[in-house]
Amino acid sequence: MAHHPLVVVGSGPAGIAAARAYLDAGGDGPATLFTADVDLPYQRPPLSKEMLRDTTSAPHVVPILDDEQGLSGVDVLLGRPVAHVDPLHHTVTVGDDEHTYDRLVLAPGAHPTPLPVADDDAQVLYLRSLRDARALSTAAAHARTAVVIGSGFIGCEAAASLAMRGIETTLVTSEHGPQAARLGAHASEVITGWLTELGVRLVTDATVTGVHAPRTVHTDDGRTHAADLVLAAIGVTPSTDFLQDSGFAMYDGRIVVDERLRTTMRDVWAAGDAVHAHHARAGRTLSVEHWGDASTMGEIAGGGAAGHDAEWSDPPGFWSEIGAHQLKYSAWGDGWDDVSVTERTGGFTMRYGRDGQLAGVLTYGADDDYEAAADQLGRARFSSAGSGDDQ
Ligand SMILES: Cc1cc2nc3c(=O)[nH]c(=O)nc-3n(C[C@H](O)[C@H](O)[C@H](O)COP(=O)(O)OP(=O)(O)OC[C@H]3O[C@@H](n4cnc5c(N)ncnc54)[C@H](O)[C@@H]3O)c2cc1C
Repeated sequence: MAHHPLVVVGSGPAGIAAARAYLDAGGDGPATLFTADVDLPYQRPPLSKEMLRDTTSAPHVVPILDDEQGLSGVDVLLGRPVAHVDPLHHTVTVGDDEHTYDRLVLAPGAHPTPLPVADDDAQVLYLRSLRDARALSTAAAHARTAVVIGSGFIGCEAAASLAMRGIETTLVTSEHGPQAARLGAHASEVITGWLTELGVRLVTDATVTGVHAPRTVHTDDGRTHAADLVLAAIGVTPSTDFLQDSGFAMYDGRIVVDERLRTTMRDVWAAGDAVHAHHARAGRTLSVEHWGDASTMGEIAGGGAAGHDAEWSDPPGFWSEIGAHQLKYSAWGDGWDDVSVTERTGGFTMRYGRDGQLAGVLTYGADDDYEAAADQLGRARFSSAGSGDDQ
């Protein structure tokens, strides 16, 4: 049984940042990182954007760290999923082996939610890992038509990228318009315009009732959509099955952590898409699925494992690219009851409110508004859910 001062689970931004921050904070090395991924750590955001638009035979992969040295001191063990964690005995099980740890950071992220109505033999693609992206690029290289199911950011980005490759692309969504529920009608109309300009055909208010082999999508309006490529992007599910029976407090499949990213088990921290974390400024627990936040949380968790406590307090947010258009979004992400739109030449700013307080901002071509609102969110301090004082 091997012993490790630090074990990290997962090679996404949260896991890598945790290992790096732990070592930078003077934690005893090496950091041992087990990952289910078979590829060296890479950035996921380009997978639905530049990489999917790239029609060369070997699309460019962006490493997670600019500098190879960034991984020095970290033993990255690829294709080695952790099957079980026993926090009482400080062990993780990988294959047939048990490993003991002094400190553990869990950063297993999430995986695409499978489309429940697809037949087993239907050829439905998903997009999370580099391996998925390669399969998607290969399918795209031979496709004349594509159906993308789901109008979240990944669905919209992927549909735009496929259309930019010259593929006749249909986006099927149960929403009234892309992102309508999350961002409101105005933003949805703008995104609709961008997608249709690229040639994406939108099928809205339509629920997928089945996908039959090889690739025919059926919707509840009685229509069928056959394509050379079907991509389902209906959301993600936290990759936490391996923690069943480990005794961690969980919420909706996510690991519950406090604002210092500590789990309910001694010497175990968790970060990224797989957590439900208390946010020091929002004053409530949030689940976010953003690259930058996963990295920030990883830094806090890894620093904490080395004895340097910090709090998760930056407002969450991400930037998305739909075709040539970049949207910037920063928000608590758990709802709004009011929205205002300011149009400006070549762009707009949407400010979301909740209980009379700023709850988020979405901008296009309005970086100064984005910075100002993100700064305002960053200065907020709420004491309890739903009621807050902007200080
Ligand atoms: C195509 C795509 C585009 C995106 N674009 C954007 C964007 O533009 N902006 C943005 O903010 N966010 C974007 N995201 C979301 C962002 O990538 C995620 O929020 C982020 O990757 C979460 O980081 P994480 O470290 O928590 O998890 P992940 O990146 O999912 O990494 C989890 C790691 O854990 C490993 N793992 C899982 N289970 C185990 C196990 N049992 N044992 C060992 N290892 C395990 C996985 O193999 C993986 O290496 C995008 C996501 C995708 C898929």
